[in-house]
Parts: sequence; structure tokens; C-alpha cells
Amino acid sequence: MTTNWVNEKSILNSLNTGVLVHGGDGNVIYANPKAIRLLRLSEVQVYRQDQYPKSWRIINRYREKLAPEQYPASVVFRTSQPIKDKEYGISDETDEKVTWVLVNAYPEFDSDRKIKQVVVTFVDFSYQDKEIPFHEIVRYANDVIMVTDAQSKSVGGPFIVYVNEAFAKLSGYSTDFAIGKSPKFLHGANTDIEARNRIRSALDNHLPIKETIYNYRADKTGYWVELNIFPLKDETGVITHFAAIERDVTEKHSFEEELIEQAATDPLTNLHNRRGFFDGAKNLIRLAEHTKEHFAIALIDLDRFKQINDQFGHDIGDQYLIAFAERMKKSFRKTDLLARYGGEEFIILLPFSTAEDSMKVVEKFRRSLDDNPIMFSDFPKSSTTISVGMAVSERDSKEIHLLISAADRALYNAKDSGRNRLCLASKI
Ligand code: GH3
Ligand code: MG
Ligand code: MG
Repeated sequence: MTTNWVNEKSILNSLNTGVLVHGGDGNVIYANPKAIRLLRLSEVQVYRQDQYPKSWRIINRYREKLAPEQYPASVVFRTSQPIKDKEYGISDETDEKVTWVLVNAYPEFDSDRKIKQVVVTFVDFSYQDKEIPFHEIVRYANDVIMVTDAQSKSVGGPFIVYVNEAFAKLSGYSTDFAIGKSPKFLHGANTDIEARNRIRSALDNHLPIKETIYNYRADKTGYWVELNIFPLKDETGVITHFAAIERDVTEKHSFEEELIEQAATDPLTNLHNRRGFFDGAKNLIRLAEHTKEHFAIALIDLDRFKQINDQFGHDIGDQYLIAFAERMKKSFRKTDLLARYGGEEFIILLPFSTAEDSMKVVEKFRRSLDDNPIMFSDFPKSSTTISVGMAVSERDSKEIHLLISAADRALYNAKDSGRNRLCLASKI
């Protein structure tokens, strides 16, 4: 409808929105200047589809080229339904950049309900972000990306509002399952409470934080993730979300653990070495102090082991040491700490036992070597005996080095008084 105070043509000419009108036969019957510009066509070309340049194309948001029957107007003609706010791109070889437009299209019917014309409008939204599909990048990134809302803390949050595919792959939970939940559902027995508290307090203070934490998968197996959490602000500066980028570091972690373990293990016998012994002893002694229980130290030295080497060679000597360590493992409790203390000397820390009980088990072990000598295919029938020096912790003397020195003195006594025997340190 034309009014006396509006010139429709001049409005359409100056409009910042592209307007295309297709007649009932599908051909373009009107295009305003903005439409021609956005479509990157000449005024002649726009009315003649057969004159579109070869490289000209309409693409969808996944950058797939559309066939003419998929063009917005064709869809409206086919379905008689309008199109609302759909994204399309227009490209040709004149510019690498795509012109991204938001398209609306609707049919107008004549009195017979036949489509009289289709009006297509489109606005340019080729701002820079559109050129880089961040959403896709996040979705398919190898690292887990999780976004939680910042406003639901008082009601049990923060709750997950977004997780990417990598999350599902790593955790075994679907993205739908995770959304709406607190990330707590990933935690379990071995998730460090301290680390969790540090994260919570950083979030409370609106600070970014980096932590490594142990999570659990849907199948209950665990994995280590390195988390990088940072707050996201809206345009007024209010924190609306927290984003977490999480990297699976399970392999790195196990590698580090393996290195630590290697450094604490004797490669010949696979028992702890000295360092492993003192690491383990620290924990056991702390526990013993807590429960006010005693513990004993036994130092074991193989008798006349040099002769074995001299007689049968070092390789046989080594094999004997391996077999001896195996025998030790079989003879003591899981809670006893066994280690190769050096050469042909071994040490045992026996926690949670009385002095008497500790002596009994060690003495039983010594006798068993006599009664049932260590044998293996290459090894001759003769076996070595052991001498043992023991010391038991007293109320005021739990200092491990003092106990070991005392056990060492007792061992010396055992050797001195004829070998193949156990001596208890009289004073510490
Ligand atoms: P005793 O303790 O009864 O006094 O006699 P011994 O012959 O065992 O004592 P000594 O301390 O003089 O010698 C310990 C020997 O243990 C020296 C070395 O030949 C042997 N030995 C130490 N470490 C290893 C090892 O890793 N492999 C082998 N094959 N022998 C070792
Ligand atoms: Mg020795
Ligand atoms: Mg010896």
C-alpha cells in the first residue's frame, strides 16, 4: 500500500537489508541494491540464474555448497512454509571471505492459495567470529571443555551447562547426562579433597586456577586431568560462567609414578631399595605412632655369601638373591616392609606386632631356610644361612636410624657368635 508520505522504492533502495522477490514461476522479479551487493551479483545476473558466475555459490553453516533446489526461495516454493533466521553464506572467487547472511523468507498466496510470490530478506552478519567456527572447534577439540554456570552455587551448583565431545569420550558419560549436574559426580574416593577445596575457593574468589585432579569414568575406572578453570564475564563485567579446559594426563601421571617407583625399587630383586624402604617406613612409623603400637626392625645378612660367588660365579649369586627375595615375599605379611638394604643384606620393618611375635616370625623364616633350602634349576644343593639382628621400638625410641643401628649391632653379635642365628638388640 502506498501512502502519500512514504516512498517505498526509496526505502527499499536505502535499506540495509537485502530484499529479493521471486515471482510465482520462481524467477527473481525484484532485488533491492543491498540484495545485489550481498549476493555479489550484477544487476543483470541477479534476474538470470543461468548467468550466475561459475564460482558463485550458496553454502550452509557447515560450508557445504547448496544445490539450487536447496536455496531458501526454492524451499519455500516446495514446502509453502516460511524460513526463519537461517544462516547461509555467499561466496565466489573474488574474495576468500564468505558473506554470511541471516535469511528470512515467506510465501505470499493468491486467492486460490497458490504461491504468488516469495519474499526473501537477508541481513549481513559476517562479523569476524563467523569466519572462525569457534563452536565447532570447541565441540571437536581433543581436550575436554566444560562450562558451568556461576550463579547456582547457593543451590548446589555450579551446574554443567556445556561439555564437548571429548568429555564423553574420556569419561564415558554422555554430554546429555552431564548437563545440569554438578561436576562432583566425577569425583570419588581418590579425588583429593584438598585439590577440590582449592578449586572451590578459587571460584569463590573469581580467580582462575590450575589443578590436577583424579576423576572417575562411568565404568568406575579413574583418570587424571589437568584442569584450567577461568571465569567468563558478560559485557557488564559480571561473572556468568566458569570454563574448564581439561587435559587427560593419566599417562604422564603413571609415567611419573613409574619413575618414582623405579627410583625406589631394587632392579635385581624388585624389592624396595634403601630409598623405597625409608619412604615406606615414614608412613608406617607415623601410623604406629598414631595407634601407639610397636614395630620391629630386622636386618638380615646372608652368611658367607662371598663363597657362593667364588664357587659358582656372580650370575648364580644374583639368581640366589632373586630367589631369596621371593622367599621373603612369601614368608611375610603384606603390611611388612621388605627391602634390599645393600649387597646381600636385607631389612624388614614389621609393624603392628609385639616384640615377641616379630621375633617369632623372623626366627621361623631363618629356620625355614635351613629346613627347606632355596633351590632352583642352576643352583647346587648347598644353600646359605642367614644371620639376623633385630631391634624393637620402645615407647620413647621410635627414631628409625637408632633402631637400625641397634639392629646392626645385634647382627654383628649374631655373626660373631657363630652365624645362622637371630640376635635381639638389648638396648637401643
Ligand atoms: P658374612 O656376611 O657371613 O660375614 O660373609 P659374606 O661373604 O657374606 O660377607 P661379605 O660382606 O664379606 O661379602 C658380601 C658378599 O656379597 C660380597 C659380594 O661378593 C656379595 N655380593 C654383594 N652384592 C652382590 C650382588 O649383587 N650379586 C652377587 N652375586 N653378589 C653380591
Ligand atoms: Mg654383608
Ligand atoms: Mg654376608
